[in-house]
Amino acid sequence: MLDVRKDFPILAQSVNDEPLVYLDNAATTQKPTAVLDVIRRYYDQDNANVHRGVHTLAERATADYEAAREKVRAFINAKSTKEVLFTRGTTTSLNWVAQFAGQILKAGDEIVISILEHHSNIVPWQEVAKRTGAILKFVYLKDGELDMSDLRNKITDRTKFVSIAHVSNVLGVINPIKEIAAYAHEHGAYMVVDGAQSTPHMAVDVQDLDADFFAFSGHKMMGPTGIGVLYGKQDLLNQFEPVEFGGEMIDFVYESHSTWTELPWKFEAGTPNIAGAIGLGATIDYLHEIGLDAVHQHEQELVDYILPKLQEIEGLTIYGPTDRAKRTGVIAFNIAGLHPHDVATALDMEGVAVRAGHHCAQPLLNYLDTPATARASFYIYNTKADCDKLVEALQKTKEFFQ
Ligand code: PLP
Repeated sequence: MLDVRKDFPILAQSVNDEPLVYLDNAATTQKPTAVLDVIRRYYDQDNANVHRGVHTLAERATADYEAAREKVRAFINAKSTKEVLFTRGTTTSLNWVAQFAGQILKAGDEIVISILEHHSNIVPWQEVAKRTGAILKFVYLKDGELDMSDLRNKITDRTKFVSIAHVSNVLGVINPIKEIAAYAHEHGAYMVVDGAQSTPHMAVDVQDLDADFFAFSGHKMMGPTGIGVLYGKQDLLNQFEPVEFGGEMIDFVYESHSTWTELPWKFEAGTPNIAGAIGLGATIDYLHEIGLDAVHQHEQELVDYILPKLQEIEGLTIYGPTDRAKRTGVIAFNIAGLHPHDVATALDMEGVAVRAGHHCAQPLLNYLDTPATARASFYIYNTKADCDKLVEALQKTKEFFQ
């Protein structure tokens, strides 16, 4: 098991007079000192705007910002930094892809997503379908995972975009993206992957997956908020028009029209989140030091430890697959007779932070026939002692309410 708690000062506090047990990592993660130090050092020593200055600080800031892009490139194994666009996060990345799609979709074209998607991989597609007359189709589930035969039925030669989460933020299930991408490509569709819940927890190789677009957020992998990535294959990015306009992304501006600069800057209008990108680069360094395989292994051990203990609690239902090889450390659950908000509030009294609600996945919860669930989600700084505390606090909660 990993032993990294000392790297996260925020965890060494008490909440409601109990030691903090932070189990809301699917929402956002804590930041290690190494990342906070790099952000602090950037503002202390190098802060300047990027790409336009010739003075020393501007050159340093630009070099740091572009070095971060190279770290992201290597992290997801993109072919070139031209394929790595900095965004505000997964939501922005997916909105950009949907707007690219709007440039080519025609009435009657089809977009295939699934019922387990986060709202940010549903609503942008609903909007683009409304504007273009394209049809949005959903793939449903079987035994807590994507129903692959339904997927094969839904993807047809009319499908232009398939957009699926790599890992569900509710069910924790790992979707077979490589297989889905191959099937989408056989039908001439582009494969878009929402990697918000996979990138922090497992090694991602966009070339191996053969994703056309891949989106993720810095803050879910111990990086800062307000920074994320959209990966896109270079020939595709060259094909699409930018969706934001202004400084930084132009080549020439005339009175009558403007021309765009080259990739990746063509898509990055305005002053970017420089400190955020540099912080994300530092996060990638930190993850590399630990090793993505060790991260995955640690979480699998926690899942192995906690799942049977949760299953023993009378009246507790776990959503998603019980086969741990198919899931990450995101565990949504309900206890019969208790509202998940009451469960989360009671757990907070014990210092245990979990999420309760619809997890920005209302169609999924509707499909599962529950308005809300509680959700515990684990990361590298969680321990078996955290698992024990969760189980003990759940038992107390049950006793209190019953
Ligand atoms: N997709 C999934 C699967 C998520 O879990 C989340 C965040 O919870 C998002 C997309 C949106 O990420 P962000 O809010 O960082 O843009």
